[in-house]
This record gives sequence, C-alpha cells and structure tokens, in this order.
Amino acid sequence: MVEIEQVKKELSRPRNVVITSHRNPDGDALGSSLAMWHWLNQMGHKVTVIFPSEYPASFFWMKGADQIRIYDLEPEEIDGILEAAEVSIMLDYNSLQRIDKLGEKLQQGSYFNMLIDHHLYPDPLGDYILSDTTASSTCELVYRFIKEYADGPPVDLTIAECLYTGIITDTGSFQYATSAALFRTVADLKDIGVDNHYLHQLIFQTLEEKNLRLLGHCIYNRMEILEEYQTGIFFLNKHDFQVFDIQRGDTEGIVNYLLKLKNVKCAVFFRQQQTIVKISFRSKGDFSVEEIAKTYFNGGGHKNAAGGYWKKSLASAIDKFKEVLPEYKTELEKSIYT
Ligand code: 5GP
Ligand code: MN
Repeated sequence: MVEIEQVKKELSRPRNVVITSHRNPDGDALGSSLAMWHWLNQMGHKVTVIFPSEYPASFFWMKGADQIRIYDLEPEEIDGILEAAEVSIMLDYNSLQRIDKLGEKLQQGSYFNMLIDHHLYPDPLGDYILSDTTASSTCELVYRFIKEYADGPPVDLTIAECLYTGIITDTGSFQYATSAALFRTVADLKDIGVDNHYLHQLIFQTLEEKNLRLLGHCIYNRMEILEEYQTGIFFLNKHDFQVFDIQRGDTEGIVNYLLKLKNVKCAVFFRQQQTIVKISFRSKGDFSVEEIAKTYFNGGGHKNAAGGYWKKSLASAIDKFKEVLPEYKTELEKSIYT
C-alpha cells in the first residue's frame, strides 16, 4: 500500500491510464469514471474509460460518455489498450470478479493499481487504495481524492456535474448513506455551479412511456408480499422482457418502490435475463441484505443495497429465496429503521 504522495510521483509525467468500473454501470460508476477521466485528461495523461457492459440511456447526456469503451462490444481492441496501459484505476467495485473477463485481463497486466470504492469487503487490489464503506458513493471519494491530491487541476463544472450525478443516484437523492461531510461536499459542488434541478431532471425525469407502464406491471401483476417476513418481491420473466422491450437500465430503481410499503423492510427484485436471473436487494434500517446476496446468490454490495445472480430458473431463484428467508426472520423482526 502506498500513500497519495506515491500516486503523485506516478502521475508526475504523462501516463497511459485505464479507468474501469463494474458491469451494468450505474450513475456512480459513470460519474466517478468520467470525473476521473476529465481530471486526468486535464493533467495531460492519455486516459480510457472501459466498462464491461453498456450503460443506461439516462446517462447519454454526460460529457465524455460517448468516449467510453465497452468490453462486451470490442474485446480485441480493448485488449490492445490494456496492454499499452501503465496505470489502472478501479472505481466503484471491490473485486475483479465484478468485471468478469475484463478482470482476468487486468490481473494479467502489470500496472500501478489504484482502487477507489465504497463497497464492503474490498479485495486488496490497489497499490493505492481509498476505500471507505461509510461513504455515500465512489463519487464522494473521488472528490476527497482530488482535494487531498491538492496540486492537481481544481474540480471544474464538468467534473462537479459528474460527481453530483453519482452522489444523487447512489443516495437515492439524499435518502441513504448521507453524512454532514457529504452535504459539505455537495455545497462545494453547488458553489462550483452545479444546477441540481436541471441534473435531477436529466437523470430522473426522462423516462419513456414504456418505463412507467413497466413499473405499473411490476406493481400490479408481478408483486408478492411476504407479510410474515416483512419482505416484498417483484419479478420479471423472459416474456415480460419482450413485451415491454426492456433494455439496459429500464429496471433501474423499480425495486425501491417496495420500500414505500410501511411493513416492508426487505425488498427483492428478480429479473430473468438471457442466461442468469439477476437479483437486486434493498432494505430499510439495520437489516443487511448484503449478507443474503453474498451467502446465497453469488453477490454482495452494501448493507441496504446489494445484488447477485442465480444460474437456474426464475422460479427456483424465488423458491431458494423463500427457503432461506426464515433464517433471517429474527433479524428482520429485531431490525429498526435508523
Ligand atoms: P443493483 O441492485 O442496483 O444492481 O446493485 C445494488 C448494489 O449491489 C450495488 O452496489 C452493486 O455494486 C451491488 N451488486 C449488484 N450486483 C452484484 C453482484 O452480482 N455481485 C456483487 N458482489 N455485488 C453486486
Ligand atoms: Mn457506488
């Protein structure tokens, strides 16, 4: 492990840098990666942002998003970029498994490695590691990193907009994982010129009709409430994916609607994708869904927001969840909203 002074030495001359983030990139993955991309570009480095898979249309507006390379779409070209890279910056993920084949490639390369992340239990991946599991978002940590670096370019409006995007998406517009320090950071971003109303509109108020109909379908036809366990379930099968023409990002945020129910402390959303069932977990208060995701569904994440997957049928994924849920009954009953 090295200190930030060593990072400064590494970046004191123009370097070839790759920035990576997790599969199914969200606002924090995009915000942190693009903020870092803009900042390093200003310092004169040659920088490429690489994601394993495509990102949702709700982030197409972000400056620099059109320059992001997608490993699923052009693996050979990207292998070439990885071979030429000298510095690897891993943002918003805690294990190379989260980025599949891209992770294998990164492991083979020889880089100065940097990890900036807020997920629980980070693997010791970086020569330099900035991991804070109490942080709201990786964007909050990128801001902290840039401040601590001190003599790099200042956070300008473009970078501030990227960071604000990750902060509002990961906190659900300041509902989760907030701290006084976060609000101070956000105040700084406002001072720099961030137009929070406009960004909110761009990110959260640009749905298409089919998105709202899909939400209605989940609530009306694909919801199950397990009262005894204060748990709510949504699920979508392959047919639903066709009927609603579900694209990347279209299911984002839907799981949170279950938490609107007074008696629901744990929310789970099962989606039957091409080869796997993708699962999102959310919870209120001190009940940890990270634990269930990690123990039974090959996943992980945070206490109140986790994810995982299941390699068999949709029905068997839901059955498995119902089978293990009784193990958590006492914890669910005990847990309080804090
Ligand atoms: P979401 O439900 O929005 O896809 O993910 C919620 C949180 O769980 C995110 O912090 C994400 O990084 C984490 N997560 C989602 N899917 C997986 C997964 O398959 N494995 C692990 N380890 N974490 C996941
Ligand atoms: Mn994040």
